[in-house]
Amino acid sequence: MLVVMKSHATPEQIEAVCAHIRDLGLRPHPLPGAQRTAIGITGNQGEVDRGNLESLPGVAEVIRVSKAYKLASRDVKEEDTVIGFPGTDAAIGGGNLAVVAGPCSIENREQAFAIAEAVAAAGAQFFRGGAYKPRTSPYAFQGLGLDALKIMAGIRERFGLRIVTEALDNESLELAAEWADVIQIGARNMQNFSLLRQAGRLRKPVLIKRGMSATLDELLMAAEYVMSEGNYQVVLCERGVRTFSDHARNTLDLSIVPALKRVSHLPILIDPSHGTGRRDSVLPMARAAVACGADGVMVEVHHRPEIALSDGPQSIYPEQFAAMMNDLEQIAPVVGRRLPRSARAAATAS
Ligand code: PEP
Ligand code: MN
Repeated sequence: MLVVMKSHATPEQIEAVCAHIRDLGLRPHPLPGAQRTAIGITGNQGEVDRGNLESLPGVAEVIRVSKAYKLASRDVKEEDTVIGFPGTDAAIGGGNLAVVAGPCSIENREQAFAIAEAVAAAGAQFFRGGAYKPRTSPYAFQGLGLDALKIMAGIRERFGLRIVTEALDNESLELAAEWADVIQIGARNMQNFSLLRQAGRLRKPVLIKRGMSATLDELLMAAEYVMSEGNYQVVLCERGVRTFSDHARNTLDLSIVPALKRVSHLPILIDPSHGTGRRDSVLPMARAAVACGADGVMVEVHHRPEIALSDGPQSIYPEQFAAMMNDLEQIAPVVGRRLPRSARAAATAS
């Protein structure tokens, strides 16, 4: 159910409706929009009695939301969600493209700082780096854990980049939330419902990667788990799905971008690195991602990919990243967007 408030409803009227919903044993989710506030209701098993709600002061109408995902749906919030980062001009969603770049894994301080310096100089606003790695083999490099989080905190300090890192379980979630700016839930954990709920109790943006065989509805239901706990700062990420194609690691499903934009207000990033698994495919698919309306890209960058401890073959060189930024800057205006680049990057851009 969704309570749509009148455009001139006062904050007191909105709070009174929320209190009424809580009295019914349900959970209100006030979602302010440009025109009016809508209040999503969750926790009900069947129909909510709309009679009393409709007669409360400031209420315009009460609507039944028929989709399985509610808070993630455009029915509940028409405007695109824009996630800001206080104290910076970085954002995910809206007119500015978000670019997240960095190595698959943090391997040591020198490696991480060298890559961070290069991506910051090219204009990235977000740095990615794995501290806790979900590896297919238990014998493969598993990440530096807390040491990696501390290295990335140093990178934020030095280069002003916002930090994106993956949490694998409840323990790493707590640590990542303490040290990073955006918590990534990986493809393998997209349906780890207890982890999603736990992430929903944070007040930090959560980036959810699409599971390798997840449908659009399943991806949005993962977002719904986080939002149902009161955390509305959710970013979706397409990173390729499993198909019969064997020319690439995964099949990057760019058609999910317009499909998601139709039904959801949440921002969507594209990861052409895991989406293709090949360095030479990253640039063309990053260009295509922006062209088809994605809110930005997340790419793996390594200055020495031949000795990377994970995902070297799909990691692009810093010079390739800089070239990609120049291309995205040119494509962005065609789709009504802008690529924001720091003053430092602008000075070094060709
Ligand atoms: C990653 O971003 O490094 C990663 C492991 O991604 P995914 O969960 O999409 O495989
Ligand atoms: Mn990786």
